[in-house]
Amino acid sequence: MSLSVPRLRIGSTEIIALADAEGPFFSPRAEAFPEATAAQWAEADRYDPGAVDAEGRWRLQFRAYAIRSDKGLTIVDAGIGPADSPARSWAPVPGTLPESLAAAGIDPAEVDTVVLTHLHTDHVGWAVVTEAAVPSAGGGATSDRRPYFPNAEYLLQRAEFDALDALNPQLRETLTDPLVAAGRLRLLDGDTPLRAGRTVATPGHTPGHQSVLVADGRELALVTGDLLVHALQLLHPELAYAHEIDPEAARHSRKRLLGRETATTLHLATPHLTEPFISA
Ligand SMILES: [Zn+2]
Repeated sequence: MSLSVPRLRIGSTEIIALADAEGPFFSPRAEAFPEATAAQWAEADRYDPGAVDAEGRWRLQFRAYAIRSDKGLTIVDAGIGPADSPARSWAPVPGTLPESLAAAGIDPAEVDTVVLTHLHTDHVGWAVVTEAAVPSAGGGATSDRRPYFPNAEYLLQRAEFDALDALNPQLRETLTDPLVAAGRLRLLDGDTPLRAGRTVATPGHTPGHQSVLVADGRELALVTGDLLVHALQLLHPELAYAHEIDPEAARHSRKRLLGRETATTLHLATPHLTEPFISA
């Protein structure tokens, strides 16, 4: 098997796209973006023809990213996860993130930081897994949950953690309690430096949503998380997505990040668009 591994270099830092899955959205796409006009849909379909299937459904990618520099290795988001993950109710589990990591030459044990952009099930699937999903765990009948990246610190905005019960209380048992028990969860209060780049608070999609910005001079790369989920929101940042908790805040975050006039080039690394890297 040969998997191609898309990469983007920003100065001495490398951003690596890690495919986990692809599949159709769970409801008609017009319901996902109720304000979009026919002309805007046509424009978005020309921009990202892979995001609509033959039946007119929204076709999503699900991917994570790695950020590698001489200072360390960060993973941004953790995909839909294994067959028993919380995303199984709607997403095409199991994902292939382990294979994508292997194809990129990344051992989960060498990852020092995991940034969780937000607490939706398609972004945290591999963050914490049961023993059965850990390749090197050696079997056993236990259902104990453990961090998939055993040596990493997991970074989540405090505002997101505090909204857990409203977002998805099930994730307390499957994700945050195990991370806390393992001493691996670190809560952030707004923008925070990383070994390479920094997290940027981009609230709206969820209360404590964050993205990751990597800069080399005036060349920027933004690992967006769900700051935008479809080309519609790149071409028309004002367009709301139906599952944004606070559409006004989400709109503001998009316009603020996509409108960086100081950047000569702004690369976007998005989990759900067809192309892993695009230049805005
Ligand atoms: Zn998502």
